[in-house]
Amino acid sequence: MTPVAASYDDHRRVWNAVHDRRPALIARCVSAVEVSSVLRYARSAGLAVTVRGGGHNVAGKAVSDDSVMIDLSLMRDVSVDPSARLARAQGGCLLRDLDAATTPHGLACPAGVVSHTGLGGLALGGGYGWLARRWGLTCDHILAAEVVLADGSIVEASDSAHSELLWALRGGGGNFGIVTRFTLSLRPIGPVVHRTGIYPLDDAAGALAAYREFAEGQPADLHAVGAFKIASDQDWIPAQLRGRPALQLTAAWFGDRRGGERAVGPLFDECAPAGGLERVLSFAELQALGDHSEPHGRRYFTKSCYLGELGPATADAMIGNAEEIRSPLSCVDFEYLRGAITDVPDEESAFPARGAPYMYTASAHWIDPNDDDEEAAWSRRSIARLAEWHYGGSYVNYVQDEPALGSVDVYGAGRYRRLAAVKRRYDPDNLLRHNQNIAPAPETRTMIEEDGL
Ligand SMILES: Cc1cc2nc3c(=O)[nH]c(=O)nc-3n(C[C@H](O)[C@H](O)[C@H](O)COP(=O)(O)OP(=O)(O)OC[C@H]3O[C@@H](n4cnc5c(N)ncnc54)[C@H](O)[C@@H]3O)c2cc1C
Repeated sequence: MTPVAASYDDHRRVWNAVHDRRPALIARCVSAVEVSSVLRYARSAGLAVTVRGGGHNVAGKAVSDDSVMIDLSLMRDVSVDPSARLARAQGGCLLRDLDAATTPHGLACPAGVVSHTGLGGLALGGGYGWLARRWGLTCDHILAAEVVLADGSIVEASDSAHSELLWALRGGGGNFGIVTRFTLSLRPIGPVVHRTGIYPLDDAAGALAAYREFAEGQPADLHAVGAFKIASDQDWIPAQLRGRPALQLTAAWFGDRRGGERAVGPLFDECAPAGGLERVLSFAELQALGDHSEPHGRRYFTKSCYLGELGPATADAMIGNAEEIRSPLSCVDFEYLRGAITDVPDEESAFPARGAPYMYTASAHWIDPNDDDEEAAWSRRSIARLAEWHYGGSYVNYVQDEPALGSVDVYGAGRYRRLAAVKRRYDPDNLLRHNQNIAPAPETRTMIEEDGL
């Protein structure tokens, strides 16, 4: 479709309304063969290419002026083989498409926490979520992938063919080809015991100390997260907290349901919340909990960092950031990671920073374009204030466009060189460059042999 088409504006829009860009052409593909034809056309016409999965990338990488947008949103079929615990999911699936197909079988692929996120971008960049501590990242579950390469050829990457490509797809982002079908391994899931509690900022230091104690000692079946935000007016939130910055702690238990209450309770024993909620959710309900808080079409700026620790001084700085939240829609999230994320040997995937203890994300979310600069400044300031405790590295899927942070910073020099060598082999002209880009290495074979990583 070209800019004169009636639905052009609907299809060029991405999740983050800050990015108002106009591609020359939007190709709504329905098969790998169509994706291949469009890639060949774009190459011959000398046009840049962007790839749209769920359109959630905060930096708006799925859309660019005067380019060809390959829109995968019509490619959302999922088939499940319950006995083999496998799903085959097309490259344009949203997380909710995958969950809808797998959860009736009591199975799920670990993925993100908002069900309208695209599987493509999330899985290729890593994929943190509720099940990450229990089972690992989404990219750890990619067993194989059908990939349309930059030259238009279609290959299947697996452990036995194009294995170096498969390695790069597990965390290296959309640099190496367009994935039209993922083969994913699935995990058993059951009801989830979920408890949340809310604290006024005056009690946040004590609550954060309790969180650290709990989270760092928790078994892999538990996942505890925290968020600073302006308290909403939901029934369970005490009236005196509503409309004010507050800390919310949540623990979810993925083990045997009978042990759930005993497992989540201690998070709240040391420091009692002002209000709270305990319930048992189906996995699909859990996955949909975050769906309304960050809808399509608003304005967003997200910065994030890994933290090495959450001691009293770190907690004070986090509370300082919360006091400065400007927009009632903004949020600061943090979570203790580790668990099964660290079980995968470092060299088995392109994903870096497996050992990072904490993730901390300052998500500015607002409506008025006049607030763009102030909101982005709050997010940047929040991350800078924690500089002393930064663990190093960055999660590629949360990188906002900033010249200061290149792909080498994300992956580290050794891993970046191996990725650059794979890029050289599969996309030597860097046709797929609207992503957190990995530039093709000049000397592929030498790089791979030298680094081994
Ligand atoms: C509300 C919200 C919640 C989020 N929650 C989480 C979370 O819980 N855990 C987490 O890890 N991340 C989370 N993220 C970040 C998310 O992983 C990234 O935004 C990711 O880029 C989303 O993928 P997408 O397909 O929707 O992105 P798009 O914007 O469509 O694409 C982004 C880039 O991904 C690549 N890409 C996408 N699909 C393909 C494909 N099939 N083949 C090749 N390349 C492709 C392309 O390079 C493209 O430029 C969240 C983001 C948002 C906005």
